[in-house]
Amino acid sequence: MNKLAKRAWFALALAGMLLLGMGVIVVRYFIDSPDWVTFQNSPHVYTDGVMNSGKIVDRGGTVVLDATNGKSYADSASLRRSMLHLLGDREGNITPFLLQEYGSELVGFDRINGTYSTGKREGQMMLTVSADVQRTALAALDGRKGTVGVYNYKTGEILCAVSSPTYDPDDVPDVEGSPETYEGVYVNRFLHATYTPGSVFKLVTAAAALDEIPDIGSRTFTCEGSAVIGGETIQCNGVHGTLNFEEALAHSCNVVFGEIAAELGPKTLMRYAEQVGVTRRYSFDGTTTAAGSFDVSNAAESELAWAGIGQYTDQINPCQYMTYMGAIANGGSAAEPYLVKEVTYGDSVKYKASTSSTGRLLDSTTADRLADMMHNAVVNVYGEWNFAGLYAGGKSGTAENGGGKAANAVFAGFLQDSDYPLAFIVVVEEGGGGASVCTPILSQVLSACVVAMDAD
Ligand SMILES: [Zn+2]
Repeated sequence: MNKLAKRAWFALALAGMLLLGMGVIVVRYFIDSPDWVTFQNSPHVYTDGVMNSGKIVDRGGTVVLDATNGKSYADSASLRRSMLHLLGDREGNITPFLLQEYGSELVGFDRINGTYSTGKREGQMMLTVSADVQRTALAALDGRKGTVGVYNYKTGEILCAVSSPTYDPDDVPDVEGSPETYEGVYVNRFLHATYTPGSVFKLVTAAAALDEIPDIGSRTFTCEGSAVIGGETIQCNGVHGTLNFEEALAHSCNVVFGEIAAELGPKTLMRYAEQVGVTRRYSFDGTTTAAGSFDVSNAAESELAWAGIGQYTDQINPCQYMTYMGAIANGGSAAEPYLVKEVTYGDSVKYKASTSSTGRLLDSTTADRLADMMHNAVVNVYGEWNFAGLYAGGKSGTAENGGGKAANAVFAGFLQDSDYPLAFIVVVEEGGGGASVCTPILSQVLSACVVAMDAD
C-alpha cells in the first residue's frame, strides 16, 4: 500500500472514531442532560447552590418558594417553618427532594433548546399540600414534636405533611446548642420516621381476626383489667367487663386484643402486617418513605400478645399507616400518596400527577366492617364533633416509650364523605393519651382541609 492510501485509511479511521464519539455524547445527552443541567452548582440553574428560576406554590397558588432571584421562601415565618421539611433548607441539612426531582422541568429545560428563560415564561411547581392546612397543623402541635398527615385517598393528594420540631430557614437557630429542642429536626417525621404504633396497630390485628376467626363477631369477651397470657400479665387501660369485638376495639381493650393476637399466632399476624403495608415503602416525587416493621418470628406468647396491641418491637411509618386508613375507608384499596400536582413552564405542562392504586390491602367486606367499627368508636368514644362534623372513623393509640418518658399519643382514621375523602394520622411525641391529645389537633386540621378543598 502506498503512503497516500495509508493516510487516507488513517483519516477515515479517525473520522469514524469521531462519529462514534459524537454518537455516544448525543445519546448520553438525551438520557442524562436533565440531571446535568440541574446538578447542584450548575451555573445555569443554581446560584451558590440554590435554584435561580421557578416558583413552588401550594394547591391554592400561594407561593411557598420563589427561586426567581436566588432562593427565597414564603413571606410568612409560620409558613416557612411548616414547609421546611418539604422544601429543604439553604445549608443542605434537609434535602430539597422536590426540587431535585423536578428541577429540570421547573427551569423549562428541554433536550433540543437547553435551558432558556426568556420573557414571561416561568416554571411553576404546584404542590398538593395547602399552606393554610400546614400552618394550622404546626400551630396545633404547639411546639410539641410529632407529625400530622392528611391525604385524599381517592386521588392520592397529600393536603398536610407537617413535621415538628422545625425552624425558620430564614432565621436558622442554634440547633447544636439546644439538642433537646431540636432532636431529629432534620428528619421529615411524616415520610422518613417510624414510631411504635401503640393501639392504632389493633386495626391490623382486627383485620386478621375478621378474616381468620369465623365467629369473632358473635363472641363475648371478659376484661377484668388484666390477663395472664404466656405466663405474663397483660395490663389493660381499664376494667371493661363483658364486651363484644366492636366494643373491644372502641375501648381499645388490651386483654381482648392480647388474647386475639395469641390465638391468631405469629405467622398470621406477620402476614397481615405485610398485606396491609406496614413493612412497605411508598416512592413518589423523589422520595421514599421509611418502612415500618413487624417481626414476631421469635416472640414468646406474651410478646406476641403485646405485638398484637402495638407494642413489643412494632414500628409504623406515619405516611404508610395513613394510606392504610385510606384503604379501610375505601373498600380495601386506596390511592398511593403524592405531593406534586403538576409542573408547568410557561404554557406547557412538564409533569402532571396521576393516581396509582395501592392494590388490594384488605378484602372489601373486611374493610367495610372495620370502617363501621371505627365509626362506632368515633360515635361512642372519641366524639363526632372532633371531625369537622363529617362521617368519621378512628382509632387512638398511646404508645409506651419506656425509660421514664411519657407515652406517644397517636390517632389514625378517616372521613367517609364524597366531597372530603380524607385519611389522616397524628403523632404527638411524649404527648400522653392518644385520643385526648390528638383529637383537638385533628379537629382544627380537618376543618382547615375542608376550607382548602372547598376553594379548589
Ligand atoms: Zn380491657
